[in-house]
Parts: sequence; C-alpha cells; structure tokens
Amino acid sequence: MGPPGAGKGTQARLISRRLGIPQISTGDILRQSVQDGTALGRKAHRYMERGELVPDEIVVRIVKERLEREDCRNGFILDGFPRNMPQAEALSRELQKTSRDIDWSINISVPDEEIMKRLSGRRVCLQCGETYNMYFSPPPRDELCGKCSTPLMQREDDKEETIRKRLQVYHEGTEPLIDYYTLNGKLITVDGSGAAEEISERIDKALKDSFG
Ligand code: AMP
Repeated sequence: MGPPGAGKGTQARLISRRLGIPQISTGDILRQSVQDGTALGRKAHRYMERGELVPDEIVVRIVKERLEREDCRNGFILDGFPRNMPQAEALSRELQKTSRDIDWSINISVPDEEIMKRLSGRRVCLQCGETYNMYFSPPPRDELCGKCSTPLMQREDDKEETIRKRLQVYHEGTEPLIDYYTLNGKLITVDGSGAAEEISERIDKALKDSFG
C-alpha cells in the first residue's frame, strides 16, 4: 500500500518475479476491463476517470475470483488492494475460508509534493509496458518509447486535478489501513523516495528481517 504513484506497481512486479508468485493489481485488471469495453469496464470507468474508488463489491468480487485461481496456491502479492477498511475486512474473511492470511502489508511512504511530480510526469508505453517520467527518467527522444518507439501515453487519471482527488481519497480511505495492519502486527513501512532499485532493496531487507 501507499499513495497513488508511490511505486506499488513497480515494486509488486519485482516481488512477484523474485518470489515467483502472481501480482494481483486491481488497477491493472480494471484498466484492462475498460480497454476491453466490458460491462464491468464501462461501470468502473466512471469512477476511475474522476479519481474515485470503484465500488467495493466490484473490486472485492474481482479479487475473490482471482484468488481462487491455481497460481495463487503458493502465495500472491496484492497491489492496490485493499484500499479501505471494508475491503480489508472482506479480504480477511475471504482468506480465512481457506485458512490463509496476509503475511505482511508493505507500506511505501512518499510525501504528497513528490507524488504530484511523479504522477503528472508519468508516461507509459501501451505496447511494451515500459514506464517513464518526464522529470526524473525521460524517454530518449520526444514522448516515444526508448524500447519500441511507440508514442507514450499519459494515464487519464494522472491529470493534475484527478491526482489531487486520488490523494484525498488515499488520505481519507486508505491511510487508516496503516493503523489496522499495525495493530495486527503486519505492517512494514519503507521509505519510498529514490530509485526503484533502492526501494526494492529496502523492501527486500525489511521482508528478510520480518520473515527471519
Ligand atoms: P491504481 O492503478 O491502483 O492507482 O488504480 C487506478 C484506479 O482504479 C483507482 O483510482 C480506482 O479508481 C480504481 N481502483 C484500483 N484499485 C481499487 C480498489 N482496491 N478499490 C477501488 N477502486 C480501485
């Protein structure tokens, strides 16, 4: 967990590769549904474009179905879920049915001013998935992917006004989960400043210390 633009997706992808467990990103699943033009995608799009949370029953159903798949048997990493208390409670209930539980909740901490720069500068290549930042890691030429030369896209919800809304939603709805997982003894907080590799090393170390 962490504010939008903290690097959850990047870090979840690295952990997924390192541990050989699937990354379950509700944001990615929802964006794919929007792109495919499914009924779920059309409904979710209305909330996403405003920077609001998609209703809990939709995302909880998505995660529930995903967790039932075979590849989750040896573990999984959730990215962008749970986003509020009702989702955290639904997740806990769901996992209890199969005598499972969350091992750790990794909280990536980044101040709001840094988030504004990261998100408004963020560009993504829809062809190969490469990500750039116009301030910190710009593409080599214009707004074209350095790997496959495809024109880069700005996520619809990375526009300034929507970023402010997403930060507000984070502080009001998601931040209380920090206390929830702290009370459960499951919270690991890492400093989310610096390069992705540095953050990854911090997470790796924290996980090793926590698992013993
Ligand atoms: P993300 O890529 O995680 O920043 O998610 C992008 C958008 O998808 C969010 O601003 C929400 O509109 C929606 N979304 C992603 N995950 C959730 C979730 N767990 N609950 C509700 N909405 C979500």
